[in-house]
Amino acid sequence: MKIGLEVHCQLLTKTKLFCGCENGFSSEPNTRVCEYCIGLPGSKPRVNRQAVEMALRIATALGCRIPKETFFSRKSYFYPDMGKNFQVTQYEMPLATDGKLAAAGKEIRIKRINVEEDPARIVHEGGSITTASHVLVDYNRSGAPLCEIVTEPDFSGPKEARLFLQELSTMLQYLNAFNPDMEGSMRVDANISLDQKDILEKQSFSGSQRSAASLQTPGLKGSERVEIKNISGFKDIEKALEYEVVRQRTSYSRKKEIVQETRSWDAAAGVTRSIRTKEGEEDYGYIFEGDIPKIRVDAAMLKSIRETMPEFARDKVRKYASMGIQEELAVSIASEPDLAEMFEKVIKTIDADFAARWFAGEIKKTLNFSNIRLKDTGIKESHITRMLQLVYDRRITERTAEMLFRDMVKKPEDPEEMMKKSDVSIIHDEEKLEDIIKHVLSENSKALLDYKSGRKESFNFLVGQVMRKTQGRGDPVAIRKLLEQMLK
Ligand SMILES: [Zn+2]
Repeated sequence: MKIGLEVHCQLLTKTKLFCGCENGFSSEPNTRVCEYCIGLPGSKPRVNRQAVEMALRIATALGCRIPKETFFSRKSYFYPDMGKNFQVTQYEMPLATDGKLAAAGKEIRIKRINVEEDPARIVHEGGSITTASHVLVDYNRSGAPLCEIVTEPDFSGPKEARLFLQELSTMLQYLNAFNPDMEGSMRVDANISLDQKDILEKQSFSGSQRSAASLQTPGLKGSERVEIKNISGFKDIEKALEYEVVRQRTSYSRKKEIVQETRSWDAAAGVTRSIRTKEGEEDYGYIFEGDIPKIRVDAAMLKSIRETMPEFARDKVRKYASMGIQEELAVSIASEPDLAEMFEKVIKTIDADFAARWFAGEIKKTLNFSNIRLKDTGIKESHITRMLQLVYDRRITERTAEMLFRDMVKKPEDPEEMMKKSDVSIIHDEEKLEDIIKHVLSENSKALLDYKSGRKESFNFLVGQVMRKTQGRGDPVAIRKLLEQMLK
């Protein structure tokens, strides 16, 4: 199986690629537009230096070769999402070539990187592309800078494609070039072809013991390349490709030919649909964009880019591992730049191994559950540091800290202040704990008998019951010690 990806990422620049209109999300349609982005005759482009620099930083991070000179071309097509009837992109001379990114346990080769303008957003009112009553165009997105990253067909399965995109997304976030939370900020075209072995695999596991070789049908070749256009979301990439593998295998088993074509992914229905049989790139009639001078990439600029590369996830994992943090925890923290940044501040005062367990555990889990990023919560470094210090000093239980953090995500507050409002401090008082244990033992005579007849697991059950009675505030070490004494 061969899968290759063309990834389009919206670059986080202040303005659009060829005009001064503001770039970024806006809810009011057609408010960030000028003559150029709606394609009025006579309007001329001017290249956004920040966009080109950002793309060069991405190319450097991916270890690409960067030619000394590059230029833009016009890709002709007639569709309302491009007011000019052509898209300014790069074709003959990409910004960069021959890079690589380690993902899914292998090295994925990057074929080329281009900068191009995004088309406008088309809105199908009252239904899908076939059933809409009318179609609206929002030119706010028209001219937004995109970085196109094209891989070689190095993926041997849908899951690898997803892991690569997650890795790429993390890298782009470390470069401050990309915001994964913006809708449609990463759109992917995936091409896939199955060879004969992939196709026959399906037939051999459908019950028969015959070898794949004996199933070979004369004239049966591998499938033609099918392209799936415009998929958003990591999970959808994997699902779309999985669907396509099954579709192609099923077609083969019915002796239907797989034609070279372009398909779209319908995320709601979970199917791909044919849009058109594939046209060649030459059908777009690329011509040189004469309104934009050639861009010279000077050595000094590349040198300063190389010297200001941030620390990436892989560097951080190595660094955390050298502090004695488990690799699994290190990978989990480093995969989110804002989490990693906070973690590094917190471990200036808190034990790194202890903090790592919290960051990769409850903190990340709660943020994911609330579907929010740490940087968007308003939670300060001092909040987390104090919370972890309270747990570390055994002034509150882990369970209490978990509850505090959940409240903090909703409304950031100092944990000491939160403790004052409701008494959540840990119960160390042995007399008080003894009373509670006595009570629990009288209520759980069966567990008590079980324990005395040798069922040691009843001990943990009793500890759990005591913790419940203290609403999670009992000192677990003291409880175990007292219970042991009282059961003797
Ligand atoms: Zn504009």
